[in-house]
Amino acid sequence: MLYKRSSQLFAEAEKVIPGGVNSPVRAFKAVGGTPIFVKSAKGAYLYDEDGNRLIDYINSWGPMILGHAYEPVVQAVIEKAKLGTSFGMPTELETQIAALAVAMVPNIDKIRFVNSGTEACMSAVRLARGFTKKDKIIKFAGCYHGHSDSFLIQAGSGAITFGSPNSPGVTAGTAKDTLLAKYNDLENVATLIEANKNEIAAIIVEPVAGNMGCIPPNKGFLEGLRQLCTDNGILLIFDEVMTGFRLAAGGVQELLNISADIVCFGKVIGGGLPVGAFAAREEIMNYLAPLGPVYQAGTLSGNPLAMAAGLAMLQALDNDRAIFKRLADKTAYLAAGIDKVLKANNVTFTINTIGSMISVHFDAASVVDFKTAANGDNETFKKFFHGLLQEGIYIAPSAYETWFITDALTYEDLDFTIRAIDKVSKTF
Ligand SMILES: *Cc1c(COP(=O)(O)O)cnc(C)c1O
Repeated sequence: MLYKRSSQLFAEAEKVIPGGVNSPVRAFKAVGGTPIFVKSAKGAYLYDEDGNRLIDYINSWGPMILGHAYEPVVQAVIEKAKLGTSFGMPTELETQIAALAVAMVPNIDKIRFVNSGTEACMSAVRLARGFTKKDKIIKFAGCYHGHSDSFLIQAGSGAITFGSPNSPGVTAGTAKDTLLAKYNDLENVATLIEANKNEIAAIIVEPVAGNMGCIPPNKGFLEGLRQLCTDNGILLIFDEVMTGFRLAAGGVQELLNISADIVCFGKVIGGGLPVGAFAAREEIMNYLAPLGPVYQAGTLSGNPLAMAAGLAMLQALDNDRAIFKRLADKTAYLAAGIDKVLKANNVTFTINTIGSMISVHFDAASVVDFKTAANGDNETFKKFFHGLLQEGIYIAPSAYETWFITDALTYEDLDFTIRAIDKVSKTF
């Protein structure tokens, strides 16, 4: 496949946009080469500026769970746009999507909409601090909660890919209030709590980690966090920006039957438009302005186009609860196929999956936290990535990312992908 026009467009972009991209993970820094420029997408496929068709396993990094340009979402946006694109005044639509989200997700009474996952997580932490009147938070190495200052301490995703897990520009004052723990290590969390008695407002966690590859929680880990939080007056924040409305209608809280105190959303909840949200029981949410003292706001929050897209997406999922099983079946089929061909070609690897999330690690040991995720062989990953690109398959250009399975992918697409992986892994 040729990527001539993409290369030219990237050269133009680099002149006026830092690194040619508006979000670092889009650059091909970790794998070499230049990013693919997209012209359009439909269902399971991307169509690029050179006329290539690619099977898409990124899906806008998660939102497009029903595939690209899903008709009811597109129609909802078009119809709303004709009626005006932003008012800065309440609309009925906001109540409709809020009511549906509250009905689908366990343990939440009220929800507030923002414009990104980053905003959702930073607002959730502010709310937790205001509510508990404590300053410190615990986050886990390799978990990503957006690019707000408090979270850029051993952050996952792009931050690891670019070797700057602790970003310059975050002040020492901010960094000292973020305590770092090891994912899947309860004892480590208990020790931190003991050492910072009555100072911790919240523990924020990806209840299934997805930004250091896909790492499901060990049995008992989330239950243990819940108990530690309850025992110590700490709020448990589930960052379900990736997992919400994906692993189940009610996210990981429903899937694993664990109650968080505050839940953050993004990605799927916006149907591909810029939306985030955070939600909790009434007592906590009423602490927000204008009812309570914790300030949080947004000119474009609850934007009608974004809410129309999100509502159409959530309605589609709510009306078709069988989708989550269908996606998990496809993921299991793909994982089994990849497992078979990589073994046949004597490749060293580990595959992690849960629901519609999957990651392939070029490492023999099991991948359970940031340290083990970082052990993978990046040279093999580069060959894997570029080999698949040549075969017309697009995975994330970083070994630290999860692939997302969508409802639009067919078993033919999965078979094509498995055959391509067989071919590519013979060249390692
Ligand atoms: C993507 C992501 C975020 C950040 O969301 P943005 O919309 O990119 O700001 C936060 N948390 C998790 C778990 C994510 O996967």
